[in-house]
Amino acid sequence: MSESASAETVLRLDGVCKRFGSNTVLDHVSFDIKQHEVVALLGPSGSGKSTLMKCVNLLEQVDDGQIWLSDTDITDPRINMDRARARIGVVFQQFNLFPHMTVLNNVTLAARKVFKWDRAQAEKKAMSLLKRIGMDHKANEYPDRLSGGQQQRVAICRALMTEPELLLLDEITSALDPLLVGEVLDMVAELKDQGATILMATHEMSFAHKAADRIVLLRHGTIAENGTPEDVMDNSSDPETQAFFRSYH
Ligand code: ADP
Ligand code: MG
Repeated sequence: MSESASAETVLRLDGVCKRFGSNTVLDHVSFDIKQHEVVALLGPSGSGKSTLMKCVNLLEQVDDGQIWLSDTDITDPRINMDRARARIGVVFQQFNLFPHMTVLNNVTLAARKVFKWDRAQAEKKAMSLLKRIGMDHKANEYPDRLSGGQQQRVAICRALMTEPELLLLDEITSALDPLLVGEVLDMVAELKDQGATILMATHEMSFAHKAADRIVLLRHGTIAENGTPEDVMDNSSDPETQAFFRSYH
């Protein structure tokens, strides 16, 4: 699996730079994610985690460097951006679901409109995903009838519809009542067990320690650490890294 030297690289960032005006937000960021790997992207607020994910999802353009999704350079301006985005599932911190649409329509919308699945095919897939998380009985409810945790789990189902090669999860539990964080993290752990490849920005340090294969720690847009949870979270010799993790205790 992820330890194998021959494991396939799903995502490769190579010297990625991103500036907003004079503010350099990503400064030559390079790392890989292998198939089936769960990588936790950690770092203080403002360190560039969301910007990095937006660059991977082509919501922001890089100023320099390349991003490879398997063997496609998705920073090449000639590529089909919709087709590249279709290979990546994304869930944000909040406002993932459209309030005026049922759960089922939320989950099937992109598959039907962007990928042109017919309704029956999309609904069949959506119902099987919802069933897996015990939410099929909520298919015809509107999002405001669901708890925040249920909404985020539905948003993950939507991201899984087209069987993406990579899941980007950007602080998906940060807006939740603490009591609801667990059910969402449990779903992430299940996806990991099923072999998903995941890049997740999070402040849930004990989950990152337990569930991530690797920790990438950003600091002012550069990679401060890239290693196993034990190496980075418990045994780093870098005083700034130690102070960062201490601040969560
Ligand atoms: P994080 O997700 O780690 O909190 P962000 O990627 O959101 O960090 O932000 C990193 C830096 O980029 C911050 O200084 C932020 O103000 C800046 N930034 C993010 N998006 C924009 C934008 N669209 N325009 C200008 N500055 C931005
Ligand atoms: Mg962010």
